[in-house]
Amino acid sequence: MKRSLLVVAFLIVLGTVTGCNGYNTNEDKEVSEDTYNSKMVDIQKQTSSEIYAMDTVMNIAYYAADDKLMKNLIDKIEELEADFSVSLPTSDIYKLNMQSEVRVSEDTKELVNKAIGLCKETKGALDITLYPVIAEWGFIDDKYEVPTKDTLSNLLKYVGYKTIDVKQNTIAIPKGVQIDLGSVAKGYLGDELSSMLEAENIDSAILNLGGNIQTIGKKPDGTLWAVGIQNPTAEDYVAVVEVDNKAVITSGIYERYFKGEDGNYYCHIIDPATGMPVNNELASVTIIGESGVRCDALSTALFVMGLQEAENFWRQNKDFEAVFITKSNEIYFTKGLSNNINIIDEDLKVGVIE
Ligand code: AMP
Ligand code: MG
Repeated sequence: MKRSLLVVAFLIVLGTVTGCNGYNTNEDKEVSEDTYNSKMVDIQKQTSSEIYAMDTVMNIAYYAADDKLMKNLIDKIEELEADFSVSLPTSDIYKLNMQSEVRVSEDTKELVNKAIGLCKETKGALDITLYPVIAEWGFIDDKYEVPTKDTLSNLLKYVGYKTIDVKQNTIAIPKGVQIDLGSVAKGYLGDELSSMLEAENIDSAILNLGGNIQTIGKKPDGTLWAVGIQNPTAEDYVAVVEVDNKAVITSGIYERYFKGEDGNYYCHIIDPATGMPVNNELASVTIIGESGVRCDALSTALFVMGLQEAENFWRQNKDFEAVFITKSNEIYFTKGLSNNINIIDEDLKVGVIE
């Protein structure tokens, strides 16, 4: 059973989005009053596009009339997908998983290096060599099955990010070790697209990369972007955070899961210590911070850690904000968000992490 992530950016005007991979520029287009109340918007020119990549729907919207830039952004998305895909036979990661040492693009090298740093920092809660375990559970080909304990312990012998050797132009991994960048790829993509937008002096943009939200600057009317945080058990939002120049990235049990023949539910995030899908008190973890790749890595890793350890991790770092929703209807957020979070769901018990 699969349910796509539905975290969306509130209050964005996507204009008339054309078909897949098409894009659209609205010049001097009237914007509905309930969406924006500033006259400023009337003179803004908006370019927006929806494309399908990395197994998800992505929306890009920026405030400038520049079709060429949109084409470059879409080219970059396709280029990175072609580098990082685990299933495309021509990708760096596919070839690496088959051949143990391959020449890779600069982006692949940079992302693998950054990811290794984040695996270390989270003491292995994030581990980009979990691919054989993830595949065994069926999360790659949707053929879900609960593996035996023996199968898992055999596969866990090949899990360990420390075995990855990033060299000058190549990456090498021991035979049997396989990489999956699914926990960090969209965050990295968000960072790359943000840099491209900033290089073109775009100071207002919002990217929704399959639920990974990346904001550039503020909304055209000068107010903060409002990003909804999904209810893990329904198709609505439990809270809204207001941000500028930040990534807002969520990992949740609801994104992808299946019900085993034993009647238990198994989610797509795996504890590298056991090879088992995470089953703690958390239903979702949202990380808000400057770096997309770091937020993406931490949303996955803090989900694995569980609430207590995740809180401690935040206390030791404090360079990001976090929102935790538990399976027992509680929402906890770090105190830096106090003035920028609206809890919509009044049934939630609220706690502030200090
Ligand atoms: P995210 O949605 O960013 O939390 O990433 C989840 C994806 O990363 C899963 O679909 C797996 O492909 C992969 N994954 C699952 N568990 C882990 C983990 N502990 N460390 C790294 N990658 C993981
Ligand atoms: Mg992630």
